[in-house]
Amino acid sequence: DYGLREADPEVRAIIDKEKNRQFRSLELIASENFTSRAVMEAVGSCLTNKYSEGLPGKRYYGGNEYIDELEILCQERALAAFNLDGNKWGVNVQPLSGSPANFEVYTAILSPHDRIMGLDLPHGGHLSHGFMTAKRRVSGTSIYFESMPYRLDESTGLVDYDMLEKTSILFRPKLIIAGASAYPRDFDYPRMRKIADAVGAFLMMDMAHISGLVSASVVANPFEFCDIVTTTTHKSLRGPRGGMIFFKKDPVNGVDLESAINNAVFPGLQGGPHNHTIGGLAVCLKHAKSPEFKAYQNKVVSNCRALASRLMELGYELVSGGSDNHLVLVDLRPLGIDGARVEKILDMASITLNKNSVPGDKSALVPGGIRIGSPAMTTRGFGEDEFIQVADFIHEGVQITLEAKKSATGSKLQEFMKFVTSPGFPLMDRVLD
Ligand code: PLP
Repeated sequence: DYGLREADPEVRAIIDKEKNRQFRSLELIASENFTSRAVMEAVGSCLTNKYSEGLPGKRYYGGNEYIDELEILCQERALAAFNLDGNKWGVNVQPLSGSPANFEVYTAILSPHDRIMGLDLPHGGHLSHGFMTAKRRVSGTSIYFESMPYRLDESTGLVDYDMLEKTSILFRPKLIIAGASAYPRDFDYPRMRKIADAVGAFLMMDMAHISGLVSASVVANPFEFCDIVTTTTHKSLRGPRGGMIFFKKDPVNGVDLESAINNAVFPGLQGGPHNHTIGGLAVCLKHAKSPEFKAYQNKVVSNCRALASRLMELGYELVSGGSDNHLVLVDLRPLGIDGARVEKILDMASITLNKNSVPGDKSALVPGGIRIGSPAMTTRGFGEDEFIQVADFIHEGVQITLEAKKSATGSKLQEFMKFVTSPGFPLMDRVLD
C-alpha cells in the first residue's frame, strides 16, 4: 500500500497546487468553507470501501454492523444539531449533495408535471428550485415539474411575498420552496406558511447556505414552519460535501413523508450511501454542538455586517441595503461595470469570489453584481477589522477594473497583484486548519 506521493505523484502535485491556492487566496465564495482535519480524516477513511444500500438494520449487504452504528449516530447528531425532537422529526443523511437531496424530495411528494414555486435563479434562487428560461427548461426540476418562480421586489431587494401570495392562488402549486443561493436576508417563514396553507401546498426550506447559522440560532428557524428542510453539509455548516433531508414524522397532506423520502433516496434515486461522507458529517455535527461553533457562526454574521457597512461607506449599493446572514450582494451596475470583469481582476490577485446576477439584470452571462461571503475567511480567523480590509481590497480591485476598462496598460493591476500575493501580505499569516 503506497502513499499518494509514491503511487501517483501527478495527482499529488495537483492536490498540492490546489492546497497552495487555497492557502494563498482570500476565499470569499459564500458557498465554500474549510472543513476540519478531523472531518477530512473520516472522509479519507476505509468507510469508502463499504456498500450499505438501505437504512440501518435494513441493508441489502452483509457486514454493516459498524456502518449501521455510524449512520444512527449521524442521524442522532443531525437532529441534535438543529435541536429537533426525534418523535416529531426524522432525517435522511444519505443524499449525495444538495441538488440530489432536493430532487429526492420532489420525487417523494410530487407526480410528474405537478406545480412548484421557488425563488427565481436570477433573483437569488438555486437551479434545483426549478429554473427555466423563455427558451429552455434548464434544470431537471423544470423538465419534470411545472415551475412558476417567485421573485424579489426590485425596489427593496426583498422577496415579494404579496406577489407570491397572488400568484400561488392562480397557479396552485403543490410545493413552495424557501431558500436561496444569493439572498442576504432571512425568509419570512410564518408568511410563507400562511401562503402555502391557503393553497394546500407543502412548504420546504432549502437551508443549504445558512444551515450553520440555523444550527447556531443566529438566523430565523425554518423548522418551526416548514414540512421539509433540505441542506448541503459543506457550506456554513463546515462539513464534508454532502446533503441531508429533514422531514416531519406526522403525515402532511396525507403523505407519510418519512417513508416517501427514504424510498425516494433509495431505491428511488441513489444506490449505496457514501459512508465516508456520512462519517465526516457525523464529525461535523458533533462540532456543531460546541460553544466554539456557536461563537464561529456569530462571527460569520458580525464579519459580514462589518464588510457590508464598509462597502456601503465606500459608496457601493448592496441588494436589500445590507445583510442579515453570511453574504452580501453588491450591485456594480451604477459604476458601469459588471461582475464578470471584477471577478476576473480580483482572481488575478488571489481574491476569490463570484459574479452574480442582481435583480433587474438583462443578461445572465454578464451579471451586474458580485456575491461575497464571510464563512471561509472567518474559519481562518478573520475578524471585523480584517473584513473591513477585505472591503478595501475589493474596492481597489473595482477601481482597477474601471481603469483597465479605460486603458489597457494594467500597471496598477500588476502592483496590486504583487502586493496581495506577497509573503508579507498582512492577512496571510494564518494557517489552514
Ligand atoms: N441549494 C442551494 C440553496 C444551493 O445554494 C446549492 C449550491 O450552491 C445547492 C442547493 C446545491 O448543492 P450541490 O452543489 O451540493 O448539489
